[in-house]
Amino acid sequence: MKLTSAGAARTVTGSCHLLEVGGKRILVDCGLFQGQVSSLNRDPLPFDPAGLDAVLLTHGHLDHTGRLPVLVRNGYAGPIHAIRSSRAITEIILYDSAKIQTEDHERALRHAGEAAESEEGPPVDEPLYGERHVAATMALFRDTDFESPIDLGGQVRATFRPAGHILGSAFIEIEGPEGRVIASGDLGNRESGLQADAVLPSPCDAVLVETTYADRAHRSQTETLEEFRTVLADSLRAGGNVMIPSFALERTQVVLYTIKKLMQSGQVPRVPVFLDSPMATRMTHLYETCANQFLPEVAQALERGEEPFEPETLRYTTTVEESKKINAIEGGAIIVAGSGMMTGGRIVHHLKHNLWRKEASLIVVGYQAEGTLGRRIVDGARTVRIHGSTIEVGARVATVNGFSSHADRDDLLRWLEPTGSARVFLIHGEPPVMEKFAGELRARGRDVVAPEPGTRYELPRLSDSAS
Ligand code: ZN
Repeated sequence: MKLTSAGAARTVTGSCHLLEVGGKRILVDCGLFQGQVSSLNRDPLPFDPAGLDAVLLTHGHLDHTGRLPVLVRNGYAGPIHAIRSSRAITEIILYDSAKIQTEDHERALRHAGEAAESEEGPPVDEPLYGERHVAATMALFRDTDFESPIDLGGQVRATFRPAGHILGSAFIEIEGPEGRVIASGDLGNRESGLQADAVLPSPCDAVLVETTYADRAHRSQTETLEEFRTVLADSLRAGGNVMIPSFALERTQVVLYTIKKLMQSGQVPRVPVFLDSPMATRMTHLYETCANQFLPEVAQALERGEEPFEPETLRYTTTVEESKKINAIEGGAIIVAGSGMMTGGRIVHHLKHNLWRKEASLIVVGYQAEGTLGRRIVDGARTVRIHGSTIEVGARVATVNGFSSHADRDDLLRWLEPTGSARVFLIHGEPPVMEKFAGELRARGRDVVAPEPGTRYELPRLSDSAS
């Protein structure tokens, strides 16, 4: 068995790992590089896509799915196996990605056109793919279920098992004649909002494990919910609008679910709630069709038709006109909108209309990367630039940090335990975090590697030496 990582090796995004097992070439995920490493999306893949036998998808996040159309554009025509809900999420995510790339490209061309009269600008990159490539990609999907092995030929089988990260998320156990390897995908935060915890893996020969938050401990769910309740109640008491920038997938549904419970139990008043994000709206409707994949409390509410992601006062605003009408509301509404880091999307308009108001509030429930508008506000900027205007930050700004959908250090150690003496390949993390976690694992007697991108690693077969 061999491993070659073509992404999420010594970095967080771009998940893409080639496994050679039983003579089969199997790719686990093919995600987009994001943020500072996004130029890597244009590098050639270190393998021939046409020579792959199968693609296995752990979950729908863009950093695990965003280069699938690149793969297909470059000759891949085999099956893409995924849990049904991950396929539905991927479809929404990839069409959105193609649309954003086209818009960015058109904007860059306009700017290049303006610049060309005075100076020579850098060449404008073509989009990585368009809608037709996404359509061709989606046609290759094969639905699979948790815990039902898929035969990949050559005595190789793959089993998707619940990872507790987001709707449909799986880790994958791949077994061939030479042994067994497990790819973690992204693992969930223990006791997080909607999903049951990840199941524990079986003993194996090698395990690839994500390390996004391998250097920290999350606050408990109880503490996080209490913090959110206090912040939301205080914000509404201040009288202004409450803005909650949110990622469309999972975080929005957790936030809506929590608001509904707080309103039902009378802990916060039943004020109007707006979900002002077409993508988050599509995701929420998808969530409503997947009852059997949530914690019993959520699943039962869905089965009883209680719409747990829809506070009674919720309004979906789909059109731009409906969104603009919210601007007329000066106080007392909760506005949930994307993007999560305030770098674009409808939240930016709401910030422009509310951020300067002393009575308004901004509740930040997600990670804010360096260089984003969200990060500047969280770091205490007194003024920010929005759409060419300088806006004073008069609103209360509160951060609730515990809503992570990723495993922390203890979750990862607990999950790795049953893999016994398997060699551990650390992926999907920042190098300093990996280094620290590698040290902890080595202290526990584990054999640890942080693979270099593009390098081919031989996977050990431990079962031989054990028997
Ligand atoms: Zn993820």
